[in-house]
Amino acid sequence: LANQNIRNFSIIAHIDHGKSTISDRFIQVCEGLTEREMDNQVLDSMDIERERGITIKAQSVSLDFKSKDGETYHLNFIDTPGHVDFSYEVSRSLSACEGALLVVDASQGVEAQSVANCYTAIDLDLEVVPVLNKIDLPAADVFRVSQEIEEIIGIDATDAIHVSGKTGIGIEDLLEQLVERIPPPQGDPEAPLKALIIDSWFDNYLGVVSLVRVIDGKIGKKSKVMPMSTKAEYQVDNVGIFTPKRVEKNELVAGEVGYVIAGIKDIEAAKVGDTFTTVKNPAEKPLDGFKEIQPRVFAGMFPVSADDYENLRDALDKLHLNDASLHYEPETSQALGFGFRLGFLGMLHMEIVQERLEREYDLDLITTAPSVVYEVETTKGETISIHNPAELPAVNYIEEIREPIIRGTIMVPQEYVGNVISLCIEKRGIQKEMKYLGNQVTLDYLLPLSEVVLDFFDRLKSVSRGYASFDYELDHFEPAPLVKVDILINGEPVDALSIIVHKDFSQSRGRVLVERMREVIQRQMFDVAIQAAIGGNIIARSNVKALRKNVTAKCYGGDVSRKRKLLEKQKAGKKRMKQVGNVEIPQEAFLAVLKRD
Ligand code: GDP
Ligand code: MG
Repeated sequence: LANQNIRNFSIIAHIDHGKSTISDRFIQVCEGLTEREMDNQVLDSMDIERERGITIKAQSVSLDFKSKDGETYHLNFIDTPGHVDFSYEVSRSLSACEGALLVVDASQGVEAQSVANCYTAIDLDLEVVPVLNKIDLPAADVFRVSQEIEEIIGIDATDAIHVSGKTGIGIEDLLEQLVERIPPPQGDPEAPLKALIIDSWFDNYLGVVSLVRVIDGKIGKKSKVMPMSTKAEYQVDNVGIFTPKRVEKNELVAGEVGYVIAGIKDIEAAKVGDTFTTVKNPAEKPLDGFKEIQPRVFAGMFPVSADDYENLRDALDKLHLNDASLHYEPETSQALGFGFRLGFLGMLHMEIVQERLEREYDLDLITTAPSVVYEVETTKGETISIHNPAELPAVNYIEEIREPIIRGTIMVPQEYVGNVISLCIEKRGIQKEMKYLGNQVTLDYLLPLSEVVLDFFDRLKSVSRGYASFDYELDHFEPAPLVKVDILINGEPVDALSIIVHKDFSQSRGRVLVERMREVIQRQMFDVAIQAAIGGNIIARSNVKALRKNVTAKCYGGDVSRKRKLLEKQKAGKKRMKQVGNVEIPQEAFLAVLKRD
């Protein structure tokens, strides 16, 4: 049997309920790092994560905990992201564990993601231990929140553990309870190796590093292994654990979580969800992988400078290894040239990918407006998927267009229910259910994904003063009267600006788009006509008047430094422009459809 002193667990929680803070406390109590190394929130290691205060990638840490019972337990815990865009990373982390801590903010109560992630854990047969965090806050109400856990999620909360990640109250007790309540791993160290790849990333010095959970057998230095999907053979250079520092070991044994480095150069060769086994004594069947993730939102990304096309491809290849949910394929646009069509889990995912490409790979990119996938049935009886509005067939070839519909759960305090319902109606939502529990209301809605993608999160937050939470899953495709709105610049349609919208909104969206374009396109030496059209019909138009004088003429008096500043500002602004015909179109124009007043 595997080492009975091992405990593998994840922490699941709604965003901001305190996962990272509690994780840091665990590291501190178990002395995984010295006081000096204990930088704030060590787990959120990516720059972007720190700045945005969110956790994107799951991370693992192995710690030794000396229990009051005299035993030392080896804890492997895997931090998980809380945002709905990354829920698939949650299920991935959870499948490497025997238990999960469900952390709920005792001042906020149960939120949409606490519910969704907890059900994932229950589906995977994990032992769920409820934890109420932030009990130091005056607004903490452990009685009410325990009741919410029982009534909304449906698990027993009588033995919920009360802690404060901030002050450290209850953290040691939590560790004791966790060791007692979460079962040890089941695997057989003598059986043929089965190690599940739960994460995999490219390191410039080490090559491909894979985070694995060893289910059966052992994986040691110098052994020959292969991913079962490809059967390509590799020699293991190195194995070890994160404490969170990288610490080498001779082998990883059934039940353990750690990293494997096996001289893999090809970043496609060690896919997340694959199973490593040994060449000498291979396992018969691979472990169940993870379900293939279907991206929900697509957008084009084009390098500002055409010379960067190959660099963009390399960067995407590398990002993809860290992020299997990122899809991409080459795309050619008349207006923007060569680039890629990228598929994302949602808008936050898209923003983060764009930011990482620009920061970590130093690329300047133009991103087009995001679009969902539409199903089109043609008059010839074929069904095609449309990932790009520019690809929509002409009207006379379309029998029916179907759009993706999600089923969303919104949880909100009673005083904001009216606002939320109005918002859902505006977004073409259909109410399926409404439940009251104390002051908390749970609403179930069917909503078109395209409307959710647009600005639903932001609007929901603003109409509820930040109190509403939201989670959704794809439900079905449904026929809808949709049309393509094209944008013409000086009479030429710009393919990358086309959008697909509901017929009832097409006039107003067209007008707003044209107006936004007028605001963001800088004045040129000639008039620029901007038009919105459906088929051959112009539905809105506007003009950017020609520039009369040179810009520098504005700096009367010849203040040299001011003149230089103005020119520099113009130059910086140019970085994110794309020449379309003889007009320069800035990045903002391509995302204008997302903006609202
Ligand atoms: P995560 O999104 O679940 O990882 O949440 P974080 O750990 O980043 O915490 C979100 C915010 O809550 C941060 O500002 C923390 O400082 C704060 N926080 C976390 N735990 C506690 C706690 O026990 N008490 C108080 N007062 N604040 C906390
Ligand atoms: Mg966090």
